[in-house]
Amino acid sequence: MTIIDEMKDDIKKVLYSQQQISERLEQLGEKLTADYAGKNPLVLCVLKGGSVFMADIVRSMKVQLQMDFMAVSSYSGTATTGEVRVVKDLESSIEGREILIVEDIVDTGLTLSYLIQQLSSRKPASINICALLLKKKTDPSEQRHVDVKYVGFECPDEFVVGYGLDYNEKYRNLPYIGVLKEEVYA
Ligand code: 5GP
Repeated sequence: MTIIDEMKDDIKKVLYSQQQISERLEQLGEKLTADYAGKNPLVLCVLKGGSVFMADIVRSMKVQLQMDFMAVSSYSGTATTGEVRVVKDLESSIEGREILIVEDIVDTGLTLSYLIQQLSSRKPASINICALLLKKKTDPSEQRHVDVKYVGFECPDEFVVGYGLDYNEKYRNLPYIGVLKEEVYA
């Protein structure tokens, strides 16, 4: 039994298979290619969760681009704290650049709204967000704090893992996205 099989045992249900993710990324890539042709975007990955998605999405964008990485921390365990902290800043100047932020999942949007606020003061030409997952909000009082222009999937409002997303640093290397069994949290 491999480590991947062992992790698979912890998964209650698969939400998006490897195949579904790769098909959706191809479609997203076509849209991004059309929108960013000739614009030389700076594609900014939010670590660590966005790293797996970043690696795939930049390869589906058939345009000249640059990559940079930023780390913010906003989560401890499975609940949003609302607190965000820049752990690693960008290496490149973003003044006058077309910025595409690549993020694994947007839930409340608090993390990205904070980040965008910080980045806007550095005078980029534009900032857009590309998120693999956007959590569906059923309660209208739960307002999202950012606009996400490019979305892979609108996912159920559950805690998900895999394809870069972790639970206590585990499951990031699962090639698909799923929900954990309750006993894993026990
Ligand atoms: P937000 O600020 O939008 O509420 O939360 C964004 C960050 O919280 C994401 O970048 C991700 O790191 C983390 N997060 C939100 N929902 C989930 C989830 O279902 N699973 C995992 N693993 N992380 C999540």
